[in-house]
Amino acid sequence: MKLDDLRPCDACGGPVNPVFFRLRVDQMVVNQAAVRERVGLAQFFGGNDRLASVFDARGDTAVAEASQQTLNLCCSCFCGAHDVAAAWEKVCKRNEPEATGATS
Ligand SMILES: [Zn+2]
Repeated sequence: MKLDDLRPCDACGGPVNPVFFRLRVDQMVVNQAAVRERVGLAQFFGGNDRLASVFDARGDTAVAEASQQTLNLCCSCFCGAHDVAAAWEKVCKRNEPEATGATS
């Protein structure tokens, strides 16, 4: 990590030096249709989920990553002084692609 890449704490906005924590947060989404199909297959095979997994066409795609964010937290926030989930939401908004098109 370069010194130029340092930014204030994502939770409190304070300085992150000399020691800080960097968290990578992966938001995951479960494909509910794939889960229903898997449960149905397992029922078809008498409750044998291992056998159902062999015939599960969506097995590798049933859980997908929705977003990945990296948070920089000062020691105080890492230890619970601020809400990490709120910091994650703030980073998500900061990293959203800018809206295109004009408003009317
Ligand atoms: Zn902080």
